[in-house]
Amino acid sequence: SSVAASNFIRNIIAEDLAAGRHTRVVTRFPPEPNGYLHIGHAKSILLNFGLAADFGGACHMRFDDTNPAAEDMEYVESILRDVRWLGGDWGDKLFFASDYFERLYAFAVELIQKGRAYVCSLSEAETRELRGTVTEPGRESPYRNRSVAESLDLFARMRAGEFPEGAHVLRAKIDMAAPNMKMRDPPIYRIKRARHYRTGDAWCVYPLYDFAHSLSDAIEGITHSICTLEFENNRELYDWIVEHLDVPSRPRQYEFARLNLSYTVMSKRKLLALVKGGLVTGWDDPRMPTIAGLRRRGVTPEAIRSFCEEIGVAKTNSMVDIAKFESCVRDDLNLRAPRVMAVLRPLRVVLENYPEGQVEEIDAPYWPEDVPREGSRKVPLSRVLYIERDDFLEDPPKKWFRLAPGQQVRLRYAGFITCREVVRNEATGEVVELRCTYDRPTKSGEAPDGRKPKGTLHWVSAAHALPAEVRLYDRLFTVERPDAVEEGKDFLENLNPGSLVVLSGCQVEPSLSTVEKGSHVQFERQGFFFVDPVDSAPGAPVFNRTVALKDSWSR
Ligand code: ATP
Ligand code: MG
Ligand code: MG
Repeated sequence: SSVAASNFIRNIIAEDLAAGRHTRVVTRFPPEPNGYLHIGHAKSILLNFGLAADFGGACHMRFDDTNPAAEDMEYVESILRDVRWLGGDWGDKLFFASDYFERLYAFAVELIQKGRAYVCSLSEAETRELRGTVTEPGRESPYRNRSVAESLDLFARMRAGEFPEGAHVLRAKIDMAAPNMKMRDPPIYRIKRARHYRTGDAWCVYPLYDFAHSLSDAIEGITHSICTLEFENNRELYDWIVEHLDVPSRPRQYEFARLNLSYTVMSKRKLLALVKGGLVTGWDDPRMPTIAGLRRRGVTPEAIRSFCEEIGVAKTNSMVDIAKFESCVRDDLNLRAPRVMAVLRPLRVVLENYPEGQVEEIDAPYWPEDVPREGSRKVPLSRVLYIERDDFLEDPPKKWFRLAPGQQVRLRYAGFITCREVVRNEATGEVVELRCTYDRPTKSGEAPDGRKPKGTLHWVSAAHALPAEVRLYDRLFTVERPDAVEEGKDFLENLNPGSLVVLSGCQVEPSLSTVEKGSHVQFERQGFFFVDPVDSAPGAPVFNRTVALKDSWSR
């Protein structure tokens, strides 16, 4: 199955092919290189590349880079890396709308010559004033009936750089009374004095979205131009543009519901604000919903794919619970992350009846029984161990199945221990050590007399453990819809102050001393972790928590 396996767009394509309207399907993924891709883009990537692959067609990788202000080569490179990582294969079909500037300019001239566009010299405020409202028709610009010759002359001089920004725009001459506001003589070219990351200062007029997008599709022979629902009203203008020009092909636009995910934001402007404001460490901060962030957190392309398959492609917008995404991530990692033991907040345990200097190597499986994979590692057991600080309570409530004075627990793979004495720091009163006894005959996990402690703890041998840094990532925002804020409030007020907890004194089992950057592991009882590909060093791994074992938010 694939993201494209079953949806209304697939049906449209199948019908178009059956009816002979097209012999081959050509889609495109058209990001603007003004930021990094996020999980919402992944949905579009998997849909566009998936449809092309399923029907034996092609999906073009096109940069919609006609707005010089915020575009950059860094973004182009990151986008290509992310699309490739998600499995998007564009072959040799890599395009830049900025390569079409000369052709787009010629199309604009053609539109003027046909009497379908004019140079308008109203100010922005005057233009707004005349546009009307949803209920009231707009009024015509006094420049609407400029002669073709005058518009052609002004447009050439706009290109030549004779005018300041805002002095003139080129507008399509459609209908100021159109019920669809997008059809009220929309601007299609404007003067913009900004350096373009690819064409430099060659241009000072740039085409606007609807004009550039529809014509780029037509130039490339795109058959099905798939975009999100916000562009539904733009479709009429898209059609108008390709109908009124002598274009090499006739593409059609189809809209689907964008992905909205709870507890995060996806607008590039907001993601950029997080990066620029230093509120995250960068576009690839593991808390970001960006592809780069998810990758660094330890999410796999397969998990993203199965999530996008599960949510499907719909015609109405909705909010997807991030818990659904986390659940796909868990299901994927369950089959790829070997189980190991790591103590994040260590508390020393001395097994008083365990001989000093003795070490036992326990053979411990990497996989639980329900994962069909093989393999084990040696886990050393010795007199001094670490357990998790919060697995011990001196004065526990009822039904506390972990360690407490006088209470017995099972150590994973090692047998039972009973807590006999609590040692504290005399000055601070803090518990610094537990003196325990080890119940050797229970090493297999079962006692000969059938005793069965309810709790099983993870642990490491103090002398053998490897110190490590662990980064506990959590949701970036505390509310479901961080950007639904009241007037005067900022979405940044909804940031989760606990979205990152760095633990530097962790102790992990020695098998992890050779773990490679970019490996997945499960720390038993705690979650799935990923060896940070940037900050880890040989013998000094940094572990990013990809996702906790269960959804701690719904408990
Ligand atoms: P922003 O509005 O944050 O700047 P964008 O939607 O303009 O983002 P583009 O780079 O223009 O970003 O998008 C490239 C493609 O990805 C478009 O076809 C767009 O429809 C699609 N896309 C963007 N966001 C989502 C989303 N949340 N869900 C599905 N598709 C999306
Ligand atoms: Mg955009
Ligand atoms: Mg947008």
